[in-house]
Amino acid sequence: MNDAQPILDRLEKGGARPGRDEMVTLLAIEDASLLERLFRLAYRIKVENVGAKVYFRGLIEYSNLCEKDCFYCGIRSSNPSVHRYQMADEEVLAATDWAHQNRYGSVVLQAGERQDPLFVDSIARLVAEIKRRSENRLGITLSLGEQSEETLRRWFAAGAHRYLLRIETANQELYARLHPGDHSWQARRDCLETLGRIGFQVGTGVMIGLPWQTLEDLADDILFFQQLDVGMIGMGPYLRHEGTPLAAGAPDLERERQLLLGLKMIAVTRIFLMDVNIASTTALQALRDEGRELGLKAGANVIMPNITDTKYRADYKLYEDKPCLDENANQCRQCLGERIAAIGETIGFDEWGDSPHFRKRGK
Ligand code: SAH
Repeated sequence: MNDAQPILDRLEKGGARPGRDEMVTLLAIEDASLLERLFRLAYRIKVENVGAKVYFRGLIEYSNLCEKDCFYCGIRSSNPSVHRYQMADEEVLAATDWAHQNRYGSVVLQAGERQDPLFVDSIARLVAEIKRRSENRLGITLSLGEQSEETLRRWFAAGAHRYLLRIETANQELYARLHPGDHSWQARRDCLETLGRIGFQVGTGVMIGLPWQTLEDLADDILFFQQLDVGMIGMGPYLRHEGTPLAAGAPDLERERQLLLGLKMIAVTRIFLMDVNIASTTALQALRDEGRELGLKAGANVIMPNITDTKYRADYKLYEDKPCLDENANQCRQCLGERIAAIGETIGFDEWGDSPHFRKRGK
């Protein structure tokens, strides 16, 4: 038997939150009946704190042009086989109009990282126009990498109110092994702090199941989320991409293990942080068709349906086996609606769906 049993006994009775070592023990669970207890507990804590309601964020993969060269990422700048694109304004606005008409409460603009004035201006212009056309109703999250305080203030003033920037791993040594020497963990962390100071609702997250990553690292990641006091978490399993240094020559990943670790990480994060928003990310679905529903059952409460025009989907490939490459936004909405109904949850249409954690902080 695993030592997780007494920890679960205590947590099920509403006892004190797990400490670091206990989180490691929970992340190590393999026994099927203990796993079921872990997920059931996380689900209960989710329903008590954020409800059995899923929020949709329509994801727009705006551009795959990127200045960064992360060793794991398919759209890294030195991957020559990527066909680079940037969506036209009208294409972005067609997608956000669709999201609004279909009662998605908010959208996410995601892209590779660029800091040049042309890019910064385009985002400011788009954010303002999305707000205008939706009469301020559509919430806007940006996921555009590290930016200067000046740029972030501009985008915030234009109307963006949430920002997603994964720290990727809270372990600085591991971070250094996964990125070129000029990519700085500290700069990324500082950027997260700046975002909070400006007034953004901040989201961060990590990749799960990275080479060299230990369960202790993952427990430290959860403590990092707490320390930063973020309102939302977006994390998912690491997946390989053939055209990257991290995948080249490396053994195949054990997909079931990656999926399970991703789900356990969601569960333990929910149990520990309780009232934050946690995304059930596409990387889970890449590992198993119903991966995102499993994420919801393990404690996640946000899904980011891809609403990018299908003609761009294959070019925005961070990892292999990206799902739904040929499924348009309408098909995706239909399919997700059915999947969510099947697990007995409702969808928070027309709501921004800020986390209770963020609302409490603001008081
Ligand atoms: N450039 C932006 C956002 C785009 S990348 C930024 O830096 O925030 C979005 C996320 O995809 C990254 O934060 C990373 O965690 C994830 N990602 C990249 N490559 C991946 C891979 N091979 N497997 C799983 N996730 C990956």
